[in-house]
Amino acid sequence: MDQKTHAWIAVRAIKLLENEGKVPGLVELLKPHTQKAAIGAWIPDKTDAKPGGAQTQNHVFKIGTYNGALTSRFITKKADLSGSLGADRLMAGFLDKYSNILDANWWGTPFKADPPPGKHLANRTMALTINNIDMLILGEQKIQDALPGDIQFISNIPDSYRCTSEQISIFFFMLSHFIADSLMPCHCDLRDLSDYDKGLHKELEKAWSKSIDDLFTESKLINTPLDCDQIFEKAVSSDIKFAISFKDQIPAFKGGESWDIWQEIVLLCRASFALASVIAPPDKYPYKPAEQIMAPFSTLFESDNYGKELLKEITQVIMHDAVLNVAMVWKNIWSRFK
Ligand SMILES: [Zn+2]
Repeated sequence: MDQKTHAWIAVRAIKLLENEGKVPGLVELLKPHTQKAAIGAWIPDKTDAKPGGAQTQNHVFKIGTYNGALTSRFITKKADLSGSLGADRLMAGFLDKYSNILDANWWGTPFKADPPPGKHLANRTMALTINNIDMLILGEQKIQDALPGDIQFISNIPDSYRCTSEQISIFFFMLSHFIADSLMPCHCDLRDLSDYDKGLHKELEKAWSKSIDDLFTESKLINTPLDCDQIFEKAVSSDIKFAISFKDQIPAFKGGESWDIWQEIVLLCRASFALASVIAPPDKYPYKPAEQIMAPFSTLFESDNYGKELLKEITQVIMHDAVLNVAMVWKNIWSRFK
């Protein structure tokens, strides 16, 4: 996703949390910083954000076929994936619809990602999630007042050593970036056709950001005279273009206390790899190490009606689920405080 789309996803997620009304303290924390802290949503892709950040290839979970030991560990059963995703996220329904492409044989195949050290998308997301919890624990007084429960030792820490709302906001926005990227099929597919400059990845990102108001570009958002509610209005105006709507309730993750952000991101990446295999089916576009055929955007999505409809569908699924997943993770973090 490009800068504009990342900013939009994060801002739209705050609006979703505001509409739900279950974590008002979190909305109060994030909302006033929408204009300035939203830059956090695109820091991980900045080429000058180093070390650790910088460019799209630096946080991926590119999945391919697997022929090593313990193959059963690398098979994701469709029923397990659908059960964990639940009905509120659109992905499971989408994968069901295309079971003619992803048949039982496909779901029985072992697949594995092997991201280089430091670039593992689930690791990056887990690290920031824990970091954000710690920042809330060390939050300035107004954070302490808003957080449910009491942090006993905080009175021993002088205010100047505590994390400000501005700092915490920018880290929440950064976290949204990694969650959103796990929904981007090209980040989760090892085939060359998913590389940034092979005719599909960049073009998909461009197609999505066309439906988002220019306000969400870097220079405009930071300098806008609009207030937070007006920015929210601009964000909501994309819903109709993506053909998405949200329920008033943000679901909790399945698994209760044993739920784990790392496993969740791996699961989302698995689903995104499945989606990538729907848009570029492996019988036509084989996985490595077979010969690679590129799958340009124009061939997949512009040459016939099937492709045009498919683009609308995946856009709806990805944009809806990206916003919902960000809201779910943020809410989960805040709700740990009791
Ligand atoms: Zn990224």
